Amino acid sequence: MRGRVASQSRHHDLPVQGFRRHGAGERPGRPVTCVAARSTARRRATCTVPGVVVVTGTVQKQSWEDKVLPPVEQVRPGLWSVPVPIPDNPLRYVLVYALELDGGGIALVDAGWDTDEAWASLTAGLAEAGGSVSDVEAVLVTHIHPDHYGLAGRVREASGAWIGLHPDDAVMLESRYGDTDALLGAMFHFLSDAGVPGDKLPDLALASMVLKSMVTMAEPDVLFEDQEAIDLRGWNLRTIWTPGHSPGHVCFYSDDRRLLLSGDHILPRITPNISVHAQQFPNPLGDYLESLAKVRDLDTAEVLPAHEYRFADLPSRVDEITAHHAERLEEIVGVIAAHPGSTAWEITLRLHWSRPWDQIEPFMQRQANGETLAHCVLLELHGRVRRDGASPALFFMSEH
Ligand SMILES: [Zn+2]
Ligand SMILES: [Zn+2]
Repeated sequence: MRGRVASQSRHHDLPVQGFRRHGAGERPGRPVTCVAARSTARRRATCTVPGVVVVTGTVQKQSWEDKVLPPVEQVRPGLWSVPVPIPDNPLRYVLVYALELDGGGIALVDAGWDTDEAWASLTAGLAEAGGSVSDVEAVLVTHIHPDHYGLAGRVREASGAWIGLHPDDAVMLESRYGDTDALLGAMFHFLSDAGVPGDKLPDLALASMVLKSMVTMAEPDVLFEDQEAIDLRGWNLRTIWTPGHSPGHVCFYSDDRRLLLSGDHILPRITPNISVHAQQFPNPLGDYLESLAKVRDLDTAEVLPAHEYRFADLPSRVDEITAHHAERLEEIVGVIAAHPGSTAWEITLRLHWSRPWDQIEPFMQRQANGETLAHCVLLELHGRVRRDGASPALFFMSEH
């Protein structure tokens, strides 16, 4: 990604374009991820903090630096990493994991966007791993976002595979990718309550609708529950529910192989977008921090994320992301103390970003606003700030 104001911890990077920051969906052109882990990484590189991310996907990392798609790789015996490109997106690709099943057959973790290019990459990648889409028996989807879920339906059509998703994401499918009228209405209200000016509302509210074309609507066949063992021949895999980035985000953990397939929950370089919006739980940042703690101490030799590259030393990465959010909370407290009565939108405008605000696309602006609000909600719950006024909500420091 690019163009960030390095070395200044208070400047949040904006995902430049690309994919996911939440909303009615992700869309090509903005990363979902928050920014700040990147500025943290930049600071580390320049001096003070010892580096915490131990890169194990060194070929992937080199490919990232060379701006090329990484190769299909065998991560472990019977476990393959297949990069599936995301067009026009700074995250560049989703890492789909292919798990060979005893006696033949394949299970996928995530699937990619529903585009012909993604389909071609997935099918070619599986062939390189010695399989075929027709071998796929299961698609385990970490969360509802199009770069993970979008292609699952097409895989099922081709192979008869079952699709698994957490119920808290499954329940949103129809409103997000089917009839979106109600969601759009909710988005207008939500943005208005946050103080987004009327002339900006349509652009921000409609910003994610293009994403619908990147998804084949497909109801899941299996609903994953927290800590549920998944029935895959030769694999001892269980679901770990990690709400935050999306309400039904799950990771998959193998204790015998000491692997965590982390989806978007934990990435090595950037942090996922954590936003309050119409399809979120009320306190997504609080959920997210709990979900970080939930996986921190799993006995893990390697983390297999859905983007970027594989890494080790999970606890240090968790601590780094946690510290980032603590820092961001303090920055927002500072803005509210200096400008009492600000709306979430006004607070967002007063935070430091890596690019001038008017150069940030509407979808990204919406993501930034949602992320600010997620921090404000947590500060309210901590009793540090309070809100007044119905719509738009105004934020003040708590009296005590
Ligand atoms: Zn996502
Ligand atoms: Zn993703």
